[in-house]
Amino acid sequence: MTIYNFSAGPAVLPKAVLQQAQAELADWQGSGMSVMEMSHRGKEYMGIHAQAEADLRELMGIPANYKVLFLQGGAHLQFSMIPLNLLRGKASADYLNTGEWSKKAIGEAKKFGGVNVVADNKDKNCSYVPAFDTWKCDPNAAFLHYTPNETIGGVEFNWVPETGDVPLVADMSSNILSRVIDVSKFGLIYAGAQKNIGPAGLTLVIVRDDLIGQVPAGTPTMLDYKTHADNDSMYNTPPTFAIYMAGLVFQWLKKSGGIAAMEQTNILKANLLYAAIDSSNGFYNCPVNHADRSRMNVPFTLKDAALDSDFLKQADARGLLQLKGHRSVGGMRASIYNAMTVEGVQALVEFMGEFAKSHG
Ligand SMILES: *Cc1c(COP(=O)(O)O)cnc(C)c1O
Repeated sequence: MTIYNFSAGPAVLPKAVLQQAQAELADWQGSGMSVMEMSHRGKEYMGIHAQAEADLRELMGIPANYKVLFLQGGAHLQFSMIPLNLLRGKASADYLNTGEWSKKAIGEAKKFGGVNVVADNKDKNCSYVPAFDTWKCDPNAAFLHYTPNETIGGVEFNWVPETGDVPLVADMSSNILSRVIDVSKFGLIYAGAQKNIGPAGLTLVIVRDDLIGQVPAGTPTMLDYKTHADNDSMYNTPPTFAIYMAGLVFQWLKKSGGIAAMEQTNILKANLLYAAIDSSNGFYNCPVNHADRSRMNVPFTLKDAALDSDFLKQADARGLLQLKGHRSVGGMRASIYNAMTVEGVQALVEFMGEFAKSHG
């Protein structure tokens, strides 16, 4: 039976990447060593590290005045490092609140300075992106933080806010590399790796270099972006195997036609799944505003929640795994990241149709 894994994260990885990692697990390219056993200062690993960064720069078109940092601590540590590094003596930062992950970033930022929430979507249960002309932005804000894809709520931006001179900061944990973006519009982009980049344990930060190096006195060395920028993310031992795996994913993306091609496939997959929901005569329902529906995380409920456990059991039996919705939302959630194939989405859609027919 073919298995399709719809986990929100850690999530499915490309089969070709896993097979390559397996083939070279114990002996990386004739070196006689596993990547896990290599000194991070040795020429083999240094090559892997530099290639991963170069491939990412090429894929995303990252301008030369941006640093690429391979860190640890997850997106959660960035919730702290961002205000610590980017407040730069200013009184406060702007934050948009569109759901669970925005909320967590806001809660942490309040420990470092003022937080001005420019808009939220609580009036409709976090189901839409507030229109830009309703945002109450502060022209003196140190930066504006937002979450372009709310992984739990399934709300995604299909536009980029224009914040002028205020640096734009984006938590792209769950939609990085899924669509073409103009990096030059951002001051800082960050992402935990375990959704669209590679295994857990690696956090990616892409930061404009003029924003680095202005931390308050007493900042721990490891929490200063400058430490990592000045040392090519090798101030201490980096998560070498996770970076190697991310590098394989970047090469897979390049071979698959790059991000523009991946974006087209992602649109196709999302359209298939939303069409199945919308054409079910109300058997399935997606609570998210149509224009703001995520291409990566598709939450949906069944008409009768009493059928949930049956749905999950039968899906499991068909090899359609990890469809249970987040505990805060309930229902189902299908995460269809880059590594989820069109065939996987087709298999899910087929099952959903049959299940609705037999329980409708
Ligand atoms: C998964 C996720 C996080 C949390 O990432 P960790 O690496 O577990 O800290 C934060 N923000 C978004 C948008 C996410 O999807």
